[in-house]
Amino acid sequence: MLMVEAEHLFRSFGTTPALRDASVAVPAGEILAVMGPSGSGKSTLLHCLSGIFTPDSGEIRYDGRRLDTLSESARTALRRTAFGFVFQFGQLVPELTVADNIALPLLLNKVPRRAAYATASAWLDRLELGGLGRRRTGELSGGQAQRVAIARALAISPRVLFADEPTGSLDSVTGAAVMGLLVGLAREEGVTVVLVTHDTRVADHADRRVIVRDGQVFAGYDAEATR
Ligand code: ADP
Ligand code: MG
Repeated sequence: MLMVEAEHLFRSFGTTPALRDASVAVPAGEILAVMGPSGSGKSTLLHCLSGIFTPDSGEIRYDGRRLDTLSESARTALRRTAFGFVFQFGQLVPELTVADNIALPLLLNKVPRRAAYATASAWLDRLELGGLGRRRTGELSGGQAQRVAIARALAISPRVLFADEPTGSLDSVTGAAVMGLLVGLAREEGVTVVLVTHDTRVADHADRRVIVRDGQVFAGYDAEATR
């Protein structure tokens, strides 16, 4: 069964083409690494697959249903309930505490306050961040902040986790630890993962790799194409 599927996506920013006939299919439960040079269209692809952007043309399906033809509000609702997104720099709310940041998407989904904070607390323990719940996220180390961002993305129990260079701002040791955690949790939860990375050690955690080049998606392990 395919969880996420895109066919013949085109997307431009003004006159700059970002996606040019990009197609990709992600089976349920797969961890897919998306690699490729800077500026090749990886982030644009991830934003289209997750419904943040709509493509200029082409089709996107989530769990067999069209995503690109949904209204903005329907896509927002889907993103809140079915998709987790981990951004390169975490994009936590720095003035809020760690627990607030993780509880926020649950509260937006109308989960009662007490239950939302209980879930946040359970994720903090699971990510070995217990005791940091009251800390403001602006005071965390990069590795801690990325773990909080992962907890926040997974707290809603998404069916698909999108991660855009989630370890890009971390040193390699911390990055590898964060990746191991992300992949382990995704496998335990049966989450489908689409992960952008330029780091082959990170991609080694994935089931499969694709390479984005000039707005198109290619299969394979072509080391040359990832430079
Ligand atoms: P990657 O994530 O692989 O580095 P992107 O998807 O961010 O690539 O970008 C693909 C192309 O689209 C690049 O040429 C980039 O400059 C352009 N692009 C991406 N986002 C925007 C934007 N918001 N406005 C204008 N151009 C953009
Ligand atoms: Mg990018």
